[in-house]
This record gives sequence, C-alpha cells and structure tokens, in this order.
Amino acid sequence: MAKKINSVVFEGTFRVCPACGYTDGFHTMLKQVGETVKWLFICPSCHEIFDIGYTVNNLIETESTGRGAPGPMAGPP
Ligand SMILES: [Zn+2]
Repeated sequence: MAKKINSVVFEGTFRVCPACGYTDGFHTMLKQVGETVKWLFICPSCHEIFDIGYTVNNLIETESTGRGAPGPMAGPP
C-alpha cells in the first residue's frame, strides 16, 4: 500500500500539482525516515505524494532534547 513519493525541485512556490495540474495547493503529511522526518505534500485531487526536500528535524530535536527552557518567549540570540 506504500504510495510512491514523487521528488520535485522546489522553486519558490509549490502550489500547482505537477501530476494533474490542480492549482489550489496541497494537504501535508509527515513521514519518519530513519532519523529524518520528511515533510510531504499530498495533492487533494489525484492524491499523489510529493517531496520538495523539506524536513522538520529542527522541531523534533527541540522536543526530544528539552532545549529551550519553559521561559517567556525564546527570542533570537
Ligand atoms: Zn494532482
């Protein structure tokens, strides 16, 4: 049942489905692959899955290491 993941090169905007031409954007999903969590996009029209090379490792890392004490808004350094 594993759906094929289509790799696409992200060029500023990712809104139009390269497979079917749907123009109103995508659903999103996350998929863990080893140590990486990929951020994937699903076309609401043809249900193809696209990987534009984004990951969410930074979010996962912050959670698991407990960095960023529970203080008032952690601003930039
Ligand atoms: Zn599509």
